[in-house]
Amino acid sequence: MNAIRWDYHVHSDVSPDAKFPMEKMCEAAIARGLEEVVFTDHYEFYYHGVQKNYNETYLKKYFETVRRCQKQFEGKLTVKAGMEFGQLHLYPKMTSEIVNSHPYDFVLGSFHKMENVDLSEMILTEHNAEWIGDAYYHHMLELSEIGEFDCLGHLDYFKKHCARAGLPDLYEKYRPFIRKILENVIKRGKGIEVNTACMGGLLEETMPGLETLVLYKELGGHILTVGSDSHKPERLGYRFDAVYSLLRQAGFSAVAVFANRKASYRRI
Ligand SMILES: [Zn+2]
Ligand SMILES: [Zn+2]
Repeated sequence: MNAIRWDYHVHSDVSPDAKFPMEKMCEAAIARGLEEVVFTDHYEFYYHGVQKNYNETYLKKYFETVRRCQKQFEGKLTVKAGMEFGQLHLYPKMTSEIVNSHPYDFVLGSFHKMENVDLSEMILTEHNAEWIGDAYYHHMLELSEIGEFDCLGHLDYFKKHCARAGLPDLYEKYRPFIRKILENVIKRGKGIEVNTACMGGLLEETMPGLETLVLYKELGGHILTVGSDSHKPERLGYRFDAVYSLLRQAGFSAVAVFANRKASYRRI
């Protein structure tokens, strides 16, 4: 059993890029020894007023599915309502309206798309990586300043795409950005997540990695959640054993859980 039993980043087939029903994900979570999961299905914002299928109908379907699972798995698994908002800093008013008019336990703020193109669809080369990295970290900086979120999703997501292209992640160059992002998060009473989506594949590293976690601790950060970002049952709670060691190494002895967007802590 994992020492960390709270997976705060899980997708169900409500998300357009996942195909497993929430019920299946809940069954897998129980089988993998988890105590609590938050379904952070996607809600993406697009530039220039582009609107896809993220609307009230989508939200209604999401909340109905969560409520159904909460009933079905009561006493076996705590199922919480969350959402991963992408590019939320582009539409701060709209994000606040959505977040404040729905019963969320937890809100993750992420950045996935530049000019409506997902980073995962971009071909990074040694010629454009720095340009993409600069844009990525400028967006993250703004997101950390004004975004309506509880925790910042996969802070150094850029490195995943560098790894995919076999390029270095330019950590030294972006360290001042990362520091400022962490300072914003702390100042605003928010937190970050430790995301294991790269592990067992592209990179044996969490997003963010140890160096950033140590810096977060040094700066006085204490709110952090752990998420597998799983889109498949077998990835639930993936490598949380490694996260446990990493967090202890960085000086953390507790992780955050949320209810009605208020944090409390679980010792690890
Ligand atoms: Zn994400
Ligand atoms: Zn995700």
